[in-house]
Amino acid sequence: MSPVRVRFAPSPTGFFHIGSARTALFNWLYARHTGGTFVLRIEDTDKERNSDEFLQVIYDSLRWLGLNWDEGPLVGGGFGPYRQSERADIYRAYLDKLSDAGRTYEREGATFFRISGKPQIIDDAIRGRVERTEEKDFVIIRSDGNPVFHFVNVVDDIAMKITHVIRGEDHLSNTSKHTELFQAFGAPMPVYAHIPLILKQHGPGKMSKRDQGALIEEYQRRGFQPEALVNFLCLLGWSPKNDQEKMPIEEIIRLFDLPAVHQGNARFDEKKMAHMNMAYLHAMTPDQYYAVAAKYLGGTGFLALHRPEEEYLRSVLALCQVKVRSLEELPAAIGYFFTEDFPYDAKSAEKIRSKGDPCARLQEFLDALTSADFSSDASLETWLQGLAASKGMSTSDYIHPGRFAFSGGSAGPTFYGVLRVIGPERAGRRIRRFLGIMGPSLSAQ
Ligand code: GLU
Repeated sequence: MSPVRVRFAPSPTGFFHIGSARTALFNWLYARHTGGTFVLRIEDTDKERNSDEFLQVIYDSLRWLGLNWDEGPLVGGGFGPYRQSERADIYRAYLDKLSDAGRTYEREGATFFRISGKPQIIDDAIRGRVERTEEKDFVIIRSDGNPVFHFVNVVDDIAMKITHVIRGEDHLSNTSKHTELFQAFGAPMPVYAHIPLILKQHGPGKMSKRDQGALIEEYQRRGFQPEALVNFLCLLGWSPKNDQEKMPIEEIIRLFDLPAVHQGNARFDEKKMAHMNMAYLHAMTPDQYYAVAAKYLGGTGFLALHRPEEEYLRSVLALCQVKVRSLEELPAAIGYFFTEDFPYDAKSAEKIRSKGDPCARLQEFLDALTSADFSSDASLETWLQGLAASKGMSTSDYIHPGRFAFSGGSAGPTFYGVLRVIGPERAGRRIRRFLGIMGPSLSAQ
């Protein structure tokens, strides 16, 4: 077998969506799995519908996902140029070959390809045997001189020595046209692998650009982890034998193979995507998490607004990492660490009021604070147990109003963790604020 050469051949006619990303990924995985070559080819012969903006989005999205191409625009290679708009000479030469073989004719200014009309059989690596017979000659060069997709697609697959054509199932019906052309050129047929469609989350039909979660750059903007998206995408239509889900990319490369790609369509599942992203965020080291979270917070304007000290931001993020599901949730989830002016949640306030006298407990807490040992969560816990015992109370009598005073709510990371991170000064200030606001309203009741 000659070394594997696969290509991802997008047309830059719209934003880069999840179906294209998955096609690119499966090609890339197959190249990496086999030690082959991953080619990027831009199918931009349709001048009216192509734009440089979309082209840039393709490059950026592939890079962001880590799907580096071995040959193609920007990196070069031995089979270039890699944009179809720059390959007119090659198409002319190939057209001559077909014409010389008597396989073309002109009608109304367009050039038609004369089909053989024989049954076209492919052994698709995913679908199995597929048979289809072309019944009509078809146009390969339009009357305006522009070559048609089927023609340039096959010419380039021949010229670029592509061994495996891995693409969306929507192209399965085109394949008989393509195999007709391969035969007319006397070229060896590539292995075809048509991957199933991605269905929209709800209801019938294929996921479209307009569906929520369809655009790759949207994930980038929302601070999703590219590794998580890649992991999620590879499971849209493929699964390893052991049904493992979260896997490092090396493992995915090792296990990926075409026969294991499912025949049935895959359904997009936003919750699963979010869950995968969370799993990646939670598995990071504190340093890794700090890097991605600080970058995201920088992009949202959060850092410019609060100008936190790096050490303090680090300790907040380390504390909140496993409590926050996505980077998008971060600004709201950690806001109270960086301002003394956070709001008090009314429902939580109600609950605090209904359970004992929060002001009395927090006054005791405040009075004892100078003797608290802030060196660890455990030392703070020991300190609070001592305070509670000395007053005949339980620690939860302090923890609930304390959490409320420190954060304005009743949820979040561990109480001792929050107390340790905000430190004695902030803790004292926040209790005094609580007593100033809540004290009068409580005694009025
Ligand atoms: N330009 C085609 C597309 O974007 C590629 C088809 C193929 O991979 O053969 O759908």
